Amino acid sequence: MTTETTAALRARVAELFPALQADLEALVRIPSVSAAAFDQAHVAASAAATEQLLRDAGLPDVQILSALRPDGTSGAPAVVARRPAPEGAPTVLLYAHHDVQPPGDPATWDTADPFEPTQVGERLFGRGAADDKAGIVAHLGALRTLGLPDGADLPVGVTVFLEGEEESGSPSFRAFLEAHRDLLAADVIVVADSTNWKVGVPALTTSLRGLVDGEVELRALEHAVHSGQFGGPVLDAVTLMSRLVATFHDEAGDVAIEGLVTAPEPQVDYDEAALRADSSLLDGVALAGTGTVSGRLWAKPALSVIGMDVTSVAAASNTIAPSCTAKISLRLAPGQDPAAADAALSAHVAKHAPFGAQVTWRSGEAGKAFLAPGDTAAMRAARAAFTEAWGAAPVDIGVGGSIPFIADLLEVFPDAAILVTGVEDPDSRAHGANESVHLGELQKVVLAEALLLTKIGEGL
Ligand SMILES: [Zn+2]
Repeated sequence: MTTETTAALRARVAELFPALQADLEALVRIPSVSAAAFDQAHVAASAAATEQLLRDAGLPDVQILSALRPDGTSGAPAVVARRPAPEGAPTVLLYAHHDVQPPGDPATWDTADPFEPTQVGERLFGRGAADDKAGIVAHLGALRTLGLPDGADLPVGVTVFLEGEEESGSPSFRAFLEAHRDLLAADVIVVADSTNWKVGVPALTTSLRGLVDGEVELRALEHAVHSGQFGGPVLDAVTLMSRLVATFHDEAGDVAIEGLVTAPEPQVDYDEAALRADSSLLDGVALAGTGTVSGRLWAKPALSVIGMDVTSVAAASNTIAPSCTAKISLRLAPGQDPAAADAALSAHVAKHAPFGAQVTWRSGEAGKAFLAPGDTAAMRAARAAFTEAWGAAPVDIGVGGSIPFIADLLEVFPDAAILVTGVEDPDSRAHGANESVHLGELQKVVLAEALLLTKIGEGL
């Protein structure tokens, strides 16, 4: 692509950006929290609002669709908007989600209302301003930049897919893909729901951790007994559970479950001071594990005890607890098969049952990790587009969290190239209080996506 085209597109994005920002603000004002405890009318309203925006951007075929969840209830409304490919051109699926996380306690926000978008300097604050209504605006901006007024000039076929329940674990996603396979089929899939490396440095997300969880129940007695009468030779179930939990990590703090996979060390490292600040780690508390910080976050397994049933301090009596249950969450390195990880965890708790206590493992959720192929034509096109948009080369990053639906996309569309791109930066605080998007970066995201679509249209 010539520099002239890039400059022209950059000018076009700058010209269009005030209207895009206004559209983002209007979307943030819709409190489309998909969690079941919230009013789902707002999720329907955000689907309707994005449907209209896509129609106005020149996509003639726009529908609001849903599929059934495994429990038989209806999934949240998703928006699918299409413009068929020009003769011989490829089709690109542009994914984002229009639902958001709950706002949390409004008192923890510095702005008056989490759903009232507020610009401070170059950042726009509000729930969903980054995750993932900025992703919607990235797609919309690229379509307007290349295709307005009627979309006829788009260089590729486009299908925009805006999910409505990503923040609730995408329960109907797989059924949706299978029911609408023909509508969604594409040569390249762009998932705009991740992060860039930092302000000024773009990133392609090339790995995501997977997840398994479950419950370990430990039983030592038929019933509770007096701690004075039996304490000494008889240990309580909480002490026994603590000894079991202590075997999950080695002395250095690395996960000590045999047979789990570790991925290669990442290309870039995460600054230790930044991690301490971002995670609110208290002074004097050491980081756990070995290797680079980014390797520990992205390329190794991580185990957390996320719940435990024990008698509360207020209800405590001089009693030896007969049983104890803990909920365990295990993040999986890219390349780890979730079923194998679940089996390893099950074998570990059986092998390390302290003092012969009866230990039972109950498997819970499982989500696959994502590991991009080393290099594809679509990845090269994305990297070139990022470099032109930012004037800085992108880095490959991993993400410690999980987007299990990416594995579903790969399974249902095995021939498609998947690109996981970012709208966030390390200050975006997605899911937390004071979520924000950097508006200067968002302009570059829009430009990069317009450049990417152009490059894909020219042939990979
Ligand atoms: Zn998201």
